[in-house]
Amino acid sequence: MALRFKLFIVCFIYISVSVSQRINIGIYSESNVKTFVFTPVKGNYEFTGDNSVKNIILQNDVIYIALLGDSVNIKSLDKNFGNFGDVYFIGENNSCSFKIKPVFPDINTREYENDLRVTILYKKLLLVNHVELENYIAGVVESEGGSKAHNEYYKSQAIICRTYALSNFDRHVSEGFNLCDGVHCQAYKSKCHKNPEIYSSTISTKGLIIVDTTLNLITAAFHSNCGGMTANCEDVWLKHLSYLRSVRDPYCTGSFNATWQKTITADQWKVYLKKSNLTVTEPAKASDFNFYQEIRKANYEYNGQTIPLKRIRTDWGLKSTYFTLTAEGNNLIMKGRGYGHGTGLCQEGAMKMAESGITYDKIIKFYYTNTYTISLRALEFFKEPVQINTFPTDSTKININ
Ligand SMILES: [Zn+2]
Ligand SMILES: [Zn+2]
Repeated sequence: MALRFKLFIVCFIYISVSVSQRINIGIYSESNVKTFVFTPVKGNYEFTGDNSVKNIILQNDVIYIALLGDSVNIKSLDKNFGNFGDVYFIGENNSCSFKIKPVFPDINTREYENDLRVTILYKKLLLVNHVELENYIAGVVESEGGSKAHNEYYKSQAIICRTYALSNFDRHVSEGFNLCDGVHCQAYKSKCHKNPEIYSSTISTKGLIIVDTTLNLITAAFHSNCGGMTANCEDVWLKHLSYLRSVRDPYCTGSFNATWQKTITADQWKVYLKKSNLTVTEPAKASDFNFYQEIRKANYEYNGQTIPLKRIRTDWGLKSTYFTLTAEGNNLIMKGRGYGHGTGLCQEGAMKMAESGITYDKIIKFYYTNTYTISLRALEFFKEPVQINTFPTDSTKININ
């Protein structure tokens, strides 16, 4: 690593980005919301329809929004504002928040910070939350990481979620937003509201991201529990990444998702092997199929033939690929460790590390080999700055058809 870079890491690692940055998140992306109620919870909002009609929506006002043909219909209790193609609800200041109650379909109310755009995409309502990046990160940490962990864990999770958001900034750009709120991107099911420590942990790491030795933002993969050893990423996906290396993890082995068990018959397994084009030597005993993983392996092995463990995990709906097979009579006992794909940060291990006093930077370094936690500002010194969209802009215009 160049000395110049080392010096900058030292100088800037704890300096946060002062510029206010926003991101566009497609919300309720996994539901086809046709009608909903919009209500400002904190502060007043200005409503703009097709850049012409403007109205002030006061705190606690109730606005009905519905898909009507190819338009968005906006009504209050006593007024029909009309039909529009593109509608914005802009908060009067940065601390404004609003809630959304979908009426059709009838699903839970959620609260969001900052602004909302409502338009039409592929004949459906498209809801986009234009939100401060750090507000979004705190909401993701709460949705992805639970609400009862230690601050140092929340800090590591905030840095991971921020790194993911910025390295996947263009994922939905053709649809008019940056990231969706589902598992396709990162779960974001509301503003952070259950635990104020999540928000303060997010703000205390504001602007920090993780880069590899070539100064590229890393693919910050994480999972629930690795079972005592994380996986090399090429055993999970096809691509080799220098920082997603298998490490032994002594921290998660007593946690909730550390072990699992499933029993199948030897005959079921035999049928599966044959379906997978393996030649089974007959007569076969259940113990012929025994399989052990002291350290994580990429493949199940039988008589010199193999099946990728990730395929077995999918085919059998297993919690992990880190399992052994042991014969008991005519049955095979699958004894598994961990939950999830197993590569990158192990959430339950990271929670234990945080509880035992290990700081977020060391947690990140433990799970992501040869990486650096630096500020965006330090990164911008070496590379082109990460572009954050404004709202509304030409770049967020979408194709309506
Ligand atoms: Zn997505
Ligand atoms: Zn683990």
